[in-house]
Amino acid sequence: MATARIDLHAHSTASDGTDSPGELVAAAAAAGVDVLAITDHDTTAGWTAAAAALPRGMRLVRGAEFSCVSPTGRGDRDVAVHLLGYLFDPTHEAIVVEQARLRGERDDRLRRMTEKMAADGYPVDAEAVFSLLPPGASAGRPHLARALVAAGVVESVNEAFAKLLYNGSPYYVPKADTPVETAIGMVRAAGGVTVFAHPLARKRGRVVEPSMIATLVAAGLSGVEVDHPDHSPQDRDLLRGIIAELGIVGTGSSDYHGTNKTTPIAEETTAPAVFEQLVAGADGAEVLVG
Ligand code: AMP
Ligand code: ZN
Ligand code: FE
Ligand code: FE
Repeated sequence: MATARIDLHAHSTASDGTDSPGELVAAAAAAGVDVLAITDHDTTAGWTAAAAALPRGMRLVRGAEFSCVSPTGRGDRDVAVHLLGYLFDPTHEAIVVEQARLRGERDDRLRRMTEKMAADGYPVDAEAVFSLLPPGASAGRPHLARALVAAGVVESVNEAFAKLLYNGSPYYVPKADTPVETAIGMVRAAGGVTVFAHPLARKRGRVVEPSMIATLVAAGLSGVEVDHPDHSPQDRDLLRGIIAELGIVGTGSSDYHGTNKTTPIAEETTAPAVFEQLVAGADGAEVLVG
């Protein structure tokens, strides 16, 4: 039997992906994926529809990508980081409350970004963006990027980020993210496990010192994403050294966003033994089998 294809990081229309949860599962199946994790930003709203669409034999890991903030390990100001949480109890109160707060933060910041842009003559309107989102979905900059494409201001989501929406742009507004150690503790308390998403995605801006990973492991982190489209070969090697030293797992994932990014689903994958080790630590939700 061929080795299972495992992709542990993908977005649906419950956040800033362009495939509905059902379409996401179908796209994964069409790409020969055996195990898929649905990891929308700050919401579990896509879990039910993804589960309902699961083809026979395919496995679904229910998760989310938590918007967090972390010390850099250099003593300069904190940096935004993403934390993948898998197989946690989605009714755990601290998670329900914090994810709802984050979605509120996302709405507020999208409103403030569109106000700044509208003041400079860009034809964008936050309420029009929100009207396109399914219930419980997280609003993000890619939604604003698509509105700019639809209005003919830019030709692509990438161009919207490069010209207007990048971190540090005059139109950029930060949101109040969760301290990463708090988020790790919340997911663990809800029976889940955590993986540091794209820790060295340098093209998005500043990243943490690799030494921060040991600190997060002490706080309960189970692994790091090693193979990610935004990681250079050198950084992947660096991370492989760190996980070997710390005795944690290293995953590989596509961070698929449908047509909001160019990466195909399962462009990067996770080894079966790593997947088994990761899920063995979780008991807040089951891996579903179709
Ligand atoms: P937000 O969550 O609103 O801060 O938006 C950040 C999200 O936008 C990230 O999670 C990425 O998925 C996506 N993103 C960041 N840079 C780009 C880019 N250049 N093109 C497309 N999507 C991007
Ligand atoms: Zn995203
Ligand atoms: Fe991310
Ligand atoms: Fe992601």
